Amino acid sequence: MNPYDVIIIGGGVIGGSIGRELSRYRVKLAILEKEEELAFGVSKSNSGIIHPGTQVLANSLKGRLCVHGNMLTRKIARELGVDFKEVGELIVAFDEDEARRLLQLKKEASILGVPKLKIVARAWLKVHEPNLSSAAIAALYAPTAGILSPYRLVYDMAENAIRNGVEIHTQTKVESIDFSSCFEISTPKGVFKTRYIINAAGLFADEISKMAGVDDFKIRPRKGEEFLLDKKSESLTNHLLFPLPSRKSKGVLVIKTADGNPMIGPTAEDVEDKYDLSTTDEGLKKALDAAQKMIPSINENDIIAYFAGLRPVAGDDFLIRHEEKASGLVNVAGIQSPGLTAAPAIALFVCDILKRNGLSLEKKLFFHSRRKKTTHLFAIPPAQTERLVKKDHAYGDIVCRCELVSAKEVRSAISRGATTLDGIKFRTRAQSGRCHGSFCTTRIMKILSEERKIPLTSITKRGSGSELIKKDKAYD
Ligand SMILES: Cc1cc2nc3c(=O)[nH]c(=O)nc-3n(C[C@H](O)[C@H](O)[C@H](O)COP(=O)(O)OP(=O)(O)OC[C@H]3O[C@@H](n4cnc5c(N)ncnc54)[C@H](O)[C@@H]3O)c2cc1C
Repeated sequence: MNPYDVIIIGGGVIGGSIGRELSRYRVKLAILEKEEELAFGVSKSNSGIIHPGTQVLANSLKGRLCVHGNMLTRKIARELGVDFKEVGELIVAFDEDEARRLLQLKKEASILGVPKLKIVARAWLKVHEPNLSSAAIAALYAPTAGILSPYRLVYDMAENAIRNGVEIHTQTKVESIDFSSCFEISTPKGVFKTRYIINAAGLFADEISKMAGVDDFKIRPRKGEEFLLDKKSESLTNHLLFPLPSRKSKGVLVIKTADGNPMIGPTAEDVEDKYDLSTTDEGLKKALDAAQKMIPSINENDIIAYFAGLRPVAGDDFLIRHEEKASGLVNVAGIQSPGLTAAPAIALFVCDILKRNGLSLEKKLFFHSRRKKTTHLFAIPPAQTERLVKKDHAYGDIVCRCELVSAKEVRSAISRGATTLDGIKFRTRAQSGRCHGSFCTTRIMKILSEERKIPLTSITKRGSGSELIKKDKAYD
């Protein structure tokens, strides 16, 4: 078999963005992902913010790629039917000292090219952010900050990449990499030969790089705990609210999300374990105290769910480079925040690296840039739902009552690639509401079983080892 031109290791937002961008060109390309579905790594546990570029150093690579990525995301969201909302952000100052720091942040962000920045005073805040603490005296307003669903972005990009010829292999963990006339990547599903490797393996990028012969950086996880509030708090804020950032993080935020539930977090704590996704009482206290400083009316009882994510840190900046020591290997590592925002700009940056290192990028005659927007009942007006139900009764068969998700949407998610309960949750929001799936999980399992023609005992939450029903010999 002819070798691939490019293999991307890692099916998160970075691998997905690079895959979709490269699918414009005549290259033989595959994405290898160890998990059962894409976006099951860092890309599933983040704040979903498309940052404007206000809290990144002006002379950093991540600063440049963040501002460029913010611009590019709008076009990609339009093409792929991803709900992107430009809600704007406020970095809030509570004393004169902090207010002076806002001027410095504004200056740095202006150097990076962040548009439409403005310092707003207490009177403006009272009108435009009425629930904000009266102790706030000023804020830096960046209207280009936005929100979207991070996992739906990955799934929609992947679907579009597949349409344009990209192969995606899940449950395909890279175990070793050899080199003879080209790279030979060993996985449980066989050996993949390729001229170029793009290492987008998130928390495990250091291990992949080492397999390919470059062992000069380490990924250190930085944990962020986030807490989701009930949807009834949807109008708690009009903007994303930030405190002044520190060198280590942007601080604890009050976040508007694409699906309505506000979030508070993330915390920032360096940890050793790349699998430590635990949430803690201290994390909750930290997030709650910091969020209540901005919005005093936030109530602990409104928290309905929590999760933790690990930022893959490899120093202060992103580490994106072609490795001379292993010619053909491009490391895309240390993609901590704002990696979701920067992803489309990283994809262009990587294409440029590939070109400069000998890959010919010839455009395909036809590239399908668009995909049909997915229907979500929770996002459309009741009159439109009524019309849909008349056309197709399955839209009226509500499976998840908390989040208003129909059987039609669940089946459609499965036909678009969902194979697990989490895959369905991330695509449709079914099981994400206050009841945590108590009402809908069994129904969704039945639908999964019917559509995939597998027994209920084979259905998993997030892949092998997370089955919900134990096989019992007596019932086999
Ligand atoms: C709490 C938190 C909040 C954040 N908020 C924001 C935000 O609001 N805005 C923003 O811009 N950024 C944010 N970020 C950062 C953003 O989430 C990351 O930068 C981004 O998701 C990184 O994507 P990735 O594709 O590099 O990593 P991942 O999504 O982890 O993808 C890497 C993939 O590689 C796979 N993999 C690993 N090893 C192997 C192997 N051996 N073989 C095959 N596959 C392998 C993994 O399973 C994984 O799916 C946040 C991060 C955290 C933790």
